[in-house]
Formats: sequence, C-alpha cells, structure tokens
Amino acid sequence: TDGRGIFKVYSPEMGSKIRRYHYLLEELRLAIASQNFHLSFQPIVHVEDCAIDYFEALIRWHHPIEGLISPTEFIPIAEESNLILELGDWILLESCRQMSAWHNAGMKKVKISVNVSGIQLKHRPVAQWVTDTLEKTGLPASSLMLEITESTFITASDKIIEELEACRRAGVTIAIDDFGTGFSSLSTLADLPIDVIKIDKLFITQASQNAKYHKILNSISELGTQLELKIVAEGVEQAEQFELVKSMGIRCVQGYLVSRPETSHNVGTKVLKGNVN
Ligand code: C2E
Ligand code: CA
Ligand code: CA
Ligand code: CA
Repeated sequence: TDGRGIFKVYSPEMGSKIRRYHYLLEELRLAIASQNFHLSFQPIVHVEDCAIDYFEALIRWHHPIEGLISPTEFIPIAEESNLILELGDWILLESCRQMSAWHNAGMKKVKISVNVSGIQLKHRPVAQWVTDTLEKTGLPASSLMLEITESTFITASDKIIEELEACRRAGVTIAIDDFGTGFSSLSTLADLPIDVIKIDKLFITQASQNAKYHKILNSISELGTQLELKIVAEGVEQAEQFELVKSMGIRCVQGYLVSRPETSHNVGTKVLKGNVN
C-alpha cells in the first residue's frame, strides 16, 4: 500500500506510460489515414567489395509535434491494435513500388527486404498478398525478401509456414531476423522455409569483448554455411567488427559503419549516380 491504505497497482509513471500509449494510438490512426509515413533504406553489402546486395526498408514516422518517433515504440502499438495490417500493406506496396522504380532506373540486381510482423502473417493470406503486390508494382519475386523475426517464426502455425513456403516457391526470399535472441531450436533452421539468417546485433557487439559470444557467433556462421544459408551480420558499427565477421566467413553486413538508413532521394542520388549494378 502507499501508506494511505490504497493498494498500489498504478504508479504515476505507469499512468504517463498509459497516456502516451493512448495518445500514440490515436495519432497513429490519424497518421495512417493521412499516409504520414515514409520509408528509409539501409544497404546490406558484401564484405569483399562492399557492393550492395539489398536494401532493408525501415519505416519512419515524422510526427508534427513529437518529431521522429522510433518504430521500436510505435510498431508494437500498431501490432496490438491491428493497425499494422493497414500500415503493413502500405509498407510492402511502397517498398516494391520504390524498388521497381530503381530497377527501371538501372539498379537491376539489388533486392528490397521488408519487415513483416507476426500479426500480418496471422491475418493476411501472405502468398496472395505478396504476389498481388508484386504484380501491381511490376517487381519480380526474385527481387523481394521478407524479414520475419525468430520469435515470430517459432510461434507460427503450420498454415503460416505453408504460406511462406508458397512465397518461396514463387521466388521470394525469406530471412529469419534477430537470429539468436528468440530461443528457437536448431531444428528451426532445418525445417522452416529460410534462405537468409540475420544475426542479431547483440552478437556482433558482444563478440569482440566476450569470448563466449565470439564462439557462438562463429558457430552460427559455420552452421549457416553448412546449411547453405546466406548470413548477414546486423549492427556492424566498427571496423574491427567488420573484420571479425569477415574472418568468420560471414559474407554480408549491415550497419552504421557502411551506411545509416537513407531517404529514397539520397539512395537515388548516391547509388544510381555511382551506377552500382
Ligand atoms: P530491425 O528489423 O532489427 O531493423 C534494424 C534496426 O537496426 C533499424 O532500426 C536500423 O536503423 C538499426 N541499425 C542498423 N544498423 C545499425 C548499427 O550499426 N547500429 C545500431 N545501433 N543500429 C543499427 P529502426 O529503423 O529504428 O527499426 C527498429 C525496429 O523496428 C526494426 O528492427 C523492426 O523490428 C521495427 N521496424 C522498422 N521498420 C519496420 C517496418 O517497416 N515494419 C515492421 N513490421 N517493423 C519495422
Ligand atoms: Ca529487420
Ligand atoms: Ca534485425
Ligand atoms: Ca531488431
């Protein structure tokens, strides 16, 4: 109790968190109705020559009063309220539309990777949704990757796995995101439709300081290579981390060292003018 005989299940701090939640929920609804979002794009490059393999599309919400609000704050709210369905439709459509435009401008070999939430997998017939969007935008299936977190994968129903398999048969690439943090068993990698492993930033950050993380990172890399999966190291910020993952045989990296996420305008001017691919 708080000394006045009132049982404390509710602290002032919790109150402000709840207020912020409801405020953002209402603002999200408005922002979705007015399409007040944009995408930023972060390259994933090959370690040998830093050539761009693909871009990850990352949503940005620039609120008129609050400024930039992190997706780590608003995506969970969008998920709990199912607003992620409408928002996620826009994200996939806009990602494919942008990549299709870049293809037509000459960036032919580069793919686009889109984060898909577990809520979307539950409520959308994924294969149909994806093929419809590809058709609408003229993007080949081989130019699209879907990123699904490890924790979403392990709770996915058989029906969802079948949908992902259908996407894969159509030519779409499937990545397991934040790998190493979701407590999947190793059979996940054998049984699930996965082409790419994105090793969570935690392992990259820890590996240079902590011998155990170093060994785990090395083992994931070896396992992935044995299973013929493409491995991406996330969150590479320092040259030493880059050299470390390279020495472990990891072929692709993503991180601030190479590039921060960029606006489509900057990607257009930097990459297309440098005529990569
Ligand atoms: P994620 O899918 O793991 O995305 C990678 C995050 O790491 C991005 O943060 C990216 O900007 C950041 N990052 C990249 N390189 C570095 C680095 O070297 N150092 C550090 N410290 N961070 C780095 P962002 O854009 O803030 O997104 C955070 C999370 O929000 C994403 O994590 C993803 O879970 C979610 N998210 C973002 N965009 C979308 C989206 O379009 N749809 C869905 N469903 N979720 C999204
Ligand atoms: Ca991701
Ligand atoms: Ca990730
Ligand atoms: Ca993450």
